[in-house]
Amino acid sequence: MKKIVIDGGKFAYFVSGENPKLLIHSGTHGDEFEVTDFVMECLYKYEAELPSFIFVPEVSPTAVDQKTRINNMGHDMNRMFFSDSKDPEVQANIEVIKDQKFDLFVSFHEDPELNDYYIYDVGYRKDRHELALAHNEILKKNGVTLLTGIDDIEDTSLGFEFVDGYNKMIFPGNEKDDGTISAWVLNRRISPEYLLPEIPGRADKKTKSLIVHSFFNDVILKIFS
Ligand SMILES: [Zn+2]
Repeated sequence: MKKIVIDGGKFAYFVSGENPKLLIHSGTHGDEFEVTDFVMECLYKYEAELPSFIFVPEVSPTAVDQKTRINNMGHDMNRMFFSDSKDPEVQANIEVIKDQKFDLFVSFHEDPELNDYYIYDVGYRKDRHELALAHNEILKKNGVTLLTGIDDIEDTSLGFEFVDGYNKMIFPGNEKDDGTISAWVLNRRISPEYLLPEIPGRADKKTKSLIVHSFFNDVILKIFS
């Protein structure tokens, strides 16, 4: 994969192959930075087997610098992602993806409050994602606890219920953008499907690594095999 730097050196991403089919994000929230190294490790390890992809390791470089959820303009990148944003980080991300047609968009996050793992599955497909469910079962057998319950009762834009670490949301389509990156991407059919693995922030590095490696092995590689 090759590194591409834009916005006067302030924004970087990686590309592998032509006509990328897979979009991967990490570093959307700057206090969720540990997962990025494991994603990078997997991209190098599995590059030959993966489809062509774009990887943005720091969706918000200034938030990652500050190790805070919000960036240097006070924006939560996953609540303020609008086409007319004056935030250069939003515009850099739009520039990278606006003319692409991916089959899958994966955004790695960490939930700083939790020990339990969970995945948001959002998109136009109607069926439950069997590969994601199987991945959760594999992790459970390896001692990872899965969230059953509500994701975040304090955040009014959340409040989704999870069973065995999984929540399925069929995207209505043609909605107004709501400030989430997923809505921006799904509304434009830049990708029809979005998976958000929410790695438990309180887990040790070994557990985080196990989850990310399994996500590549048991979900991404199987989707594209
Ligand atoms: Zn996050």
